[in-house]
Amino acid sequence: MKINILTIFPEMFTPLRMSMMGRAIDKEIIELSITDIRDHTTDRHNRVDDTPYGGGAGMVMQVQPIMDAYDATGCGGRVIYMSPRGRLLSGELARELSSESEITILCGHYEGVDQRVLDRLGAEEVSIGDYVLTGGELPAMVLIDTVARFIDGVLAGEESVSDESIYSGLLEYPQYSKPREYDGDEVPEILLSGNHGEIDLWRWEESLKLTKERRPDLFEAYLASEPKLSKRERQILDKYR
Ligand code: SAM
Repeated sequence: MKINILTIFPEMFTPLRMSMMGRAIDKEIIELSITDIRDHTTDRHNRVDDTPYGGGAGMVMQVQPIMDAYDATGCGGRVIYMSPRGRLLSGELARELSSESEITILCGHYEGVDQRVLDRLGAEEVSIGDYVLTGGELPAMVLIDTVARFIDGVLAGEESVSDESIYSGLLEYPQYSKPREYDGDEVPEILLSGNHGEIDLWRWEESLKLTKERRPDLFEAYLASEPKLSKRERQILDKYR
């Protein structure tokens, strides 16, 4: 998948070269193309923003540098503008985007971008939550990371997106690693039993408990999905209804 990024702070994307994304780039599963919008401004002072028509606070990113950056660098695919006005980012949207061969992400700053950019590019606005950040770079990285997890070959072989919290329909059960005892705190006995059927049931029950307590909305959706359950699982679930 090719991901084009239009930004005025290209250096903010350095973290994308690390960890899982770094490996995906090395393996050429993901190609990142980052364009500095400022390199394309025709303003002699290198400006990319100006005051809003109609008055009001702040500055607006201008149409010319963004359109020229887009045209000059051969960006393609669905254009996504990171914006608090947008459709909320979800697992469903991430999965949908992961099947694209190319996307272009536009990062705003100041009061945002000139509306004509969005109209010309047919940009879809995507928000990462109901709060406002200073720029679109962090939201773009959140989007890219979560989209990448759905692309074949990005996660290590044994990891699976569908086992994770939210995507499985339930929140994940508590995890433990060595040592078996830390300052008097023991790992739950069942996890040391070697009985994988019982361990799976314990984990599933822990997931149910956590989901009911923290995300009653998800819990209700899980019940409504009428999951296929064994007799024992049904007995456990009945305790939490
Ligand atoms: N004036 C804009 C408004 O009220 O909708 C907010 C502009 S914000 C200060 C600057 C930029 O940060 C936006 O253009 C957008 O790219 C990015 N941004 C801020 N919050 C965001 C969010 N929740 N999701 C996605 N992008 C966001």
